[in-house]
Amino acid sequence: MLTIINAFFINLCILFTLFTISFLPFRNRPRLTPQSPLKGRVLLGVQTGLIALLLLGNALPLEGVLIDLRAIPIMLGVLFGGWVSGAVAGIILLTGRFFIVLLTDGSMFGLYLAVATMVLLVASTSILRKRMDNTRPTLLIFITISIAIFGSAIYAALPLNLFYPVLIVYTLMSYGGACAAYRLLLELRRHFENVQHQQQLARTDALTGIANRRLLNEAMANLTVEAEEYALILVDIDHFKRVNDTYGHDVGDDVLRELGMLLVNESNERHLVGRFGGEEFLIVMPHANREEVSRLAESIREKVSTFPFETSAGTLHITVSLGACHSNDIEIDSVLKHADEALYHAKESGRNRFILAS
Ligand code: GH3
Ligand code: MG
Ligand code: MG
Repeated sequence: MLTIINAFFINLCILFTLFTISFLPFRNRPRLTPQSPLKGRVLLGVQTGLIALLLLGNALPLEGVLIDLRAIPIMLGVLFGGWVSGAVAGIILLTGRFFIVLLTDGSMFGLYLAVATMVLLVASTSILRKRMDNTRPTLLIFITISIAIFGSAIYAALPLNLFYPVLIVYTLMSYGGACAAYRLLLELRRHFENVQHQQQLARTDALTGIANRRLLNEAMANLTVEAEEYALILVDIDHFKRVNDTYGHDVGDDVLRELGMLLVNESNERHLVGRFGGEEFLIVMPHANREEVSRLAESIREKVSTFPFETSAGTLHITVSLGACHSNDIEIDSVLKHADEALYHAKESGRNRFILAS
């Protein structure tokens, strides 16, 4: 009896360790379903098939039958990836099983039984999966089916005095192991989603929802490394203090939010638009020539000067001043400094202006 429990515990340890490792390729992808791209479902099938095979390698041989928890990874495969994952896993398992049996000179009866049970198990649960979702109750139904199928196989193969204890341990371990493995995958998914969310927050400006200074700095650091032609445009609202003083801080915030969106819409996806601080925005333009910089900056200046900013105090009009610097050889710190000086000159020379540092 102790040997039986021991063998199952080794199976559980293999299950948890390998599921944790095999989750890693899926950590930043949407949850896998039978409608996911084929590559992901095949990969899941390969993983669950190999896990099942390793469980089989640590199975308990009893009267020519190998007893283990191989059904759990296969069922999880069907649950998330549908019949494709289940079929791939089943084929891998049976191929491996065939060689293990040949090498160890085991009984062919066990092999036939393994093939029959696996085909029955994958086919029946794959059909059911089409009508069910990928929740824990579905998994428990799949596990119940697997217990019924493997239970019948064990019944056919073992003497009655062994059948009952094996069935009891098998049933408990199957339900317990499946629930724990499912929970493990759920927790891993939550964990990585949380990490992604936090990374996103760490790079987003809370007020405008566009890139924050941290992300802008990262983008600028990458430009230096690439050492290519690039440009920076600084955009600063003219007399913004007056907006705050006249209409209040909340209205000022509305203007900042709308300006952020306007800048993103005016630029294209190769550019990174972010809030550099206060009422100052920065556009990082990789692979940009001087003409492109002037065109974008002028179009922003013009658009802002006529744009109706809808705020809680009604429609407002503002203007912006822009300073830019284009470079194909200067260090990023100097480029930023030149853009800032250009912005200063734009303010000095009357505002609502764009100046490109020479
Ligand atoms: P200039 O044309 O010279 O740029 O004048 P300005 O008034 O825009 O510039 P100044 O630097 O004197 O004032 C910037 C103002 O921006 C002061 C500050 O209250 C406001 N500001 C900075 N951050 C925020 C913010 O998050 N929300 C709001 N509502 N106002 C902000
Ligand atoms: Mg300003
Ligand atoms: Mg300013």
